[in-house]
Amino acid sequence: MKIAVIGAGSAGLAALRHCTSGTYDCEVVCYEKTDQVGGTWVYVEETGLDRYGLPIHTSMYKNLRTNLPKEVMGYPDYPVPDAPESYLTRTQILEFLNSYCDHFKLRQHIRFLHNVESVAPSGGDRKWTIKVKDLRNNTVANDSFDAVMVCNGHYFKPSVPNLKGHETFQGQQLHSHDYRTPDIFLDKNVVVVGAGPSGMDLALDISRKATRVILSHHTREPIGTIFPDNVVQKPDIKELTENGVLFDDGSSESIDAVFYCTGYEYSFPFLDPKCGVRVDSNMVTPLWKHLVSIENPTLALVGIPFYVCAFSMFDLQVRFLLKFWYGRKDFPAKGDMLKEEKEELEKLLAEGLRKRHFHQMGYKQDVYYDDLADTAGITPLPPVLTKLHNESSMHFLDDLLHYRESRYKIIDDYNFIQL
Ligand SMILES: Cc1cc2nc3c(=O)[nH]c(=O)nc-3n(C[C@H](O)[C@H](O)[C@H](O)COP(=O)(O)OP(=O)(O)OC[C@H]3O[C@@H](n4cnc5c(N)ncnc54)[C@H](O)[C@@H]3O)c2cc1C
Repeated sequence: MKIAVIGAGSAGLAALRHCTSGTYDCEVVCYEKTDQVGGTWVYVEETGLDRYGLPIHTSMYKNLRTNLPKEVMGYPDYPVPDAPESYLTRTQILEFLNSYCDHFKLRQHIRFLHNVESVAPSGGDRKWTIKVKDLRNNTVANDSFDAVMVCNGHYFKPSVPNLKGHETFQGQQLHSHDYRTPDIFLDKNVVVVGAGPSGMDLALDISRKATRVILSHHTREPIGTIFPDNVVQKPDIKELTENGVLFDDGSSESIDAVFYCTGYEYSFPFLDPKCGVRVDSNMVTPLWKHLVSIENPTLALVGIPFYVCAFSMFDLQVRFLLKFWYGRKDFPAKGDMLKEEKEELEKLLAEGLRKRHFHQMGYKQDVYYDDLADTAGITPLPPVLTKLHNESSMHFLDDLLHYRESRYKIIDDYNFIQL
C-alpha cells in the first residue's frame, strides 16, 4: 500500500514508525507544513501567520510544563527516558519526539514545508488524491495514495465565545492559541474565561505578572484548589463593557484584558466534502471508533480523542488501522459501524453530556484502549497508564500549585508508586 500521513507531530511520527517497521509492505510519505517535527510541542514566538502566509500551528507557550507525568507520555515501545522529575518542560518533550524520530529513522520519510491543500477520493487505481504545496518553491503537485492517516492535531483553531459586548470592550482580547509569555499581562487586571486544564494552568502562569486574575467559569463543582492570592473565581460573564465586565451573579470588575481559554475546534480544512467526514457541534462524524471514516474506511483521523495518554493512544490507533487496511481484520458492514457510533452518542446524551464531549475519554480511557486492542487483536496498552493519568488529573484539581512536584515510577503493567 502507498500511505499518506498528514502532519509530523507526535501522531504523525507514530504513524510513520509503524508504516516503516517492516511488518507491512508499505510505501509512506508524510507531509509536514512546518520545517520540523513535534507539532504543537514546537515553541515559536510568532503568532498569526507564518512567513508563507499560513496560520501558525502551535499553541505552545514559553513556561509550559506538562500536565501529565512523563511515565504516561511515552510511546509503548519508546518510553520517555529517566529524569529526576515526572513533569517535564516543553523542551524536554520536543527533544524526546526528535529522539523518537531519529531512533526509528523517520525523518527521511517526511517532506517538510509541504502543506496539504486538499484530500479527495479519486477515480483512478489509487483511492485518494492529495494536493500539496511545496512552500519553498511555491509549486503545487498532486499525488495518489491507497490510504490516508490525517494527523493534523486539534489544538490550532480557537473556539471563541460570542460574548455580549465583545465589540464594545476597549481592552485587549486574546485566545490561548496566541499566548506565549505572561509579560503581556504585566500589571494588568485580566479576566480568564474558562477553567479547563489550560484555563487553570494559564491563570496560574499569568498570575506571576498580572495584578489581578479573575477566573470566570461554570464548572459544576467549585474548584477546590488553592490559587495564588491575586487569583479570584467568578461565575460566567454576562456582558463586557467598555472597560470592564459584568458577571452572572451581578458583580462587576474593571479589567484591562480578556483572555479566552475556551478551547479549540476540530478542523480539517483540506478534507474535500466527498471524503464524508464532517464536524458537527465539535463531534467528528461519522467515524468508527473515533478513528476510521465510515464512508471511506481507507481514510483515518488519528488522535481525535482527548484527555488521553496521547502518544500511546496514537501508537495503538495506528497499529489498529494497519491490521484492517492490510486485510488481517475485516471492517464491519457500514450499517454496523454507523449503529455503533449512534449508540455511543445516545449513551453520552443520556448521561447529560453533549456532542462536544463525544471524544472526551478521561477516566474511562482504558475502555477505549481495550476496545481497540480487542477488536484488532493487537497488544493492548497497560492499565497502569489510565490509573496514573487519573491520579495526576485528581492531583491537578486538588493542588494546582504543587502537583508537578510529585514523582512517579511505574513498576508493572498495573501499578505505579509515588516516590
Ligand atoms: C498548550 C498545550 C499543552 C499540552 N500539554 C500536554 C501535556 O502536558 N501532555 C500531553 O500528553 N498532551 C498535551 N497536549 C496535547 C498535545 O496536543 C498532544 O500531546 C500531541 O502533541 C498532539 O499531537 P498531534 O500529532 O495529534 O498534533 P500536533 O502536535 O498538533 O501536530 C500536527 C502536525 O500537523 C501539521 N499540519 C497541520 N495541518 C497540516 C497540513 N495541511 N499539511 C501539512 N502538515 C500539517 C502541523 O504543522 C503539525 O506539525 C498539549 C497541547 C497543548 C496545545
